Amino acid sequence: MNSPAWCFQCSACGERFPLDKPRAMCDCGAVLDCKPPPGKFPSPPTSRTAGLGRYAGILPLPAGRRPLLQLGEGGTPLLEERFGDRRLFLKVESTQPTGSFKDRGYVLLVNHLSGWGVGEVVGDSSGNAACSLAAYCALAGIRATLYVPSRISTGKLRLLESFGAEVRRVPEGRSAARRLAVLEGRRTFYAGHVTHPLFLHGVKTIAYEIWAQMGKASPGTIVLPAGNGTLLLGLWLGFGELLRTGSIRSCPKLIAVQARSCAPLALAFQRGEEGPVRIDPEGTRAEGIAIPEPVRGKEILRAVRDSGGRMVTVGEKEIEAAHRQLSRTGFLVEPTSAAALAAATATAGPEEEPVVVILTGSGLKTLPAQ
Ligand SMILES: [Zn+2]
Repeated sequence: MNSPAWCFQCSACGERFPLDKPRAMCDCGAVLDCKPPPGKFPSPPTSRTAGLGRYAGILPLPAGRRPLLQLGEGGTPLLEERFGDRRLFLKVESTQPTGSFKDRGYVLLVNHLSGWGVGEVVGDSSGNAACSLAAYCALAGIRATLYVPSRISTGKLRLLESFGAEVRRVPEGRSAARRLAVLEGRRTFYAGHVTHPLFLHGVKTIAYEIWAQMGKASPGTIVLPAGNGTLLLGLWLGFGELLRTGSIRSCPKLIAVQARSCAPLALAFQRGEEGPVRIDPEGTRAEGIAIPEPVRGKEILRAVRDSGGRMVTVGEKEIEAAHRQLSRTGFLVEPTSAAALAAATATAGPEEEPVVVILTGSGLKTLPAQ
């Protein structure tokens, strides 16, 4: 079951590290990748086992930790819906245990943290990742300290507290929250969802699920919100593996959506630049993608370009309208997810090409208090 030959490899200097010891970054300060054993990559799983165990063949699972820590993540529905004249497939990640796709990443990382004997971690997030880390740490008996922007939704804040996490609210915003978490992580363990490669490998399971739900095929296009790009990079990783094993003939085009008021990647895409553009962000209701300085910006832009897709922006009124449209159709999602629907319904495309829209997070956490 376990995969002892997976290893961490530095994305800058190439140094390799074993997977059986705690590691957040390379000693040179660069982010790590997680590399599979040499040889042919395994074919997609066919077992009907629920949860992480289903993906044992294609995931770097921790050695020896049985049973795995799980809260029922993964296995989310893919539902066909019509919005106006567009037929769309909705991947409903809002039904995850803590209400967002982030559970796919943290279930894998926290299983390793538990196996490594890490007793205390620090993370940073605009809300959903923090809620997920807090829940899995509660399950594993690990102390979690979370740096979040002061403007976090009240629902997300209450949820964090209910999981027993220590919350540090940062008035200077999302980027400052990350800097403080990295600093404190030197003393404990920085379990950042944006930088840790195990998180991305957990998220890649969504690609395998979509592939299976589409009848072992790749959709033509996937529309998704992108801030720090963990979902986008996880999808790209998963579909890349499916392509390498001959399970699909081509990867889906990725249409990555940003709020017009905070669009460092979409601006870079339009200008043909390699990395994110410096911006002076304004507020957006799509708090999950309010990321002015995306750490993996270059990787995100490369993945979008390599997929043949593009980056687009949507305005606050369009996000609000799409949010209302989803609610009136019965889908309770957060405004960040509605940004993806707004872009998908505005994008012309051939009907015969299946378009998947990822509903990234639940609206239960972002309902106004009154
Ligand atoms: Zn290095």
